[in-house]
Amino acid sequence: MRNKADVVIIGGGIIGMSVAFHLAREKYGQIVLVEKELLPGAGSTSKAAGGIRAQFSTKVNIQMSMLSEKMFLNFKEDTGTEALFDQVGYMFLLQTDEEIAQFKKNYELQKSLGLPVELLQPEDIPQYAPHISLDGVRLATFCKEDGLGDPHEFLSGYEHAARKLGVEFSYETEVTAINTKGDTITEVITTKGAISTPLIIDCAGAYSKLIGEMLGLQVPVEPIRRQIVTTGELDFVKPYFPMVVDVKSGLYCHKESKGMLLGWADKSVQPSFDISIDPDYTDAILEKALERIPMLEQAEIANEWAGLYETTPDHHAIIGWEPNVKGMFYCTGFSGHGFMHAPAAGLVTAELITGKTPSVDITSLSPQRFVAGTVIDETNVI
Ligand SMILES: Cc1cc2nc3c(=O)[nH]c(=O)nc-3n(C[C@H](O)[C@H](O)[C@H](O)COP(=O)(O)OP(=O)(O)OC[C@H]3O[C@@H](n4cnc5c(N)ncnc54)[C@H](O)[C@@H]3O)c2cc1C
Repeated sequence: MRNKADVVIIGGGIIGMSVAFHLAREKYGQIVLVEKELLPGAGSTSKAAGGIRAQFSTKVNIQMSMLSEKMFLNFKEDTGTEALFDQVGYMFLLQTDEEIAQFKKNYELQKSLGLPVELLQPEDIPQYAPHISLDGVRLATFCKEDGLGDPHEFLSGYEHAARKLGVEFSYETEVTAINTKGDTITEVITTKGAISTPLIIDCAGAYSKLIGEMLGLQVPVEPIRRQIVTTGELDFVKPYFPMVVDVKSGLYCHKESKGMLLGWADKSVQPSFDISIDPDYTDAILEKALERIPMLEQAEIANEWAGLYETTPDHHAIIGWEPNVKGMFYCTGFSGHGFMHAPAAGLVTAELITGKTPSVDITSLSPQRFVAGTVIDETNVI
């Protein structure tokens, strides 16, 4: 591993890879990416459900998604690697007055930003998502440009393209300390030696708080466990089956390897780095899934896993310069939507670092917002 670099990226998940690729494309000198695990993507990226959607409640999240969706579609042209963005759509099932009011507000904002989102009456739902129980469902929102992707396909595409552009990758390399001179970054200490550098980009996802602690900083990103269950093959799951989110119960599901992927955000989970599987959590997912899709009675469990959401207090990413330490830049805290925002996140990070105007106005994602009290809450979190 080299001992000097123009920039060190900490973390080889989808965010670090996208940042590495986009910075390399800007010809930003010597870029080194360090990852503590043996393989890239071993953190949250390998646990993601693969959902890609622009149906958010804030302008910045909608715009980050709309740009990313374009970039997912252009991925081969950009990186040389084929990767599928399967635009089967995302559907949110709504039951209560409160949900309907909030999602109609989101719908108006999304439409005003050019997203082709639709309101569906219950009778319109089966043509997209047959075999879903419509019990209690009064309305749905649907965007046919949302969909699914395999995080590893995109991660590998970015890695290969970045390597071709000269980025150096060092796996099984954990950052253990960061040195400064006064208030300026000088050096990253890793388990494979020191790298002197004037610039660090924190792409450590759920571990970002620990990176901040190395500099005596509080980075407000909490690791929160989330679980997923997949089923074996199911005849009734059609290739066009979209991502369906039951807003009231919090269940989400989509087609996966001819079966289904089922997930749910247990809001009672407390922050920790524990990713063991909790059987009660699995049972809760299955119970909610059976209620919404009774035909799952015939399903067998194929796999289950747990991973970490990298959650900020307002469920928005942190992208920008650390105000108290020169040379420290954050691209982290995507709060469960880091795969879908990775293309835009890498691009705007590279633009900001090279002094360009970012393609999306991300002022509201700056780390200063927590001090300034200018947080804007994302309400549509799964
Ligand atoms: C169950 C589940 C379902 C999800 N579903 C979706 C979805 O459908 N759509 C979506 O967009 N997002 C989803 N997400 C969220 C998504 O996985 C994350 O937002 C995304 O992977 C974040 O990418 P990242 O690169 O920031 O983090 P990571 O992939 O975690 O990468 C960070 C890397 O930093 C490394 N690292 C940490 N500390 C150090 C250190 N000291 N030294 C060196 N390396 C270090 C870690 O090993 C890790 O590989 C889901 C997450 C979970 C858990």
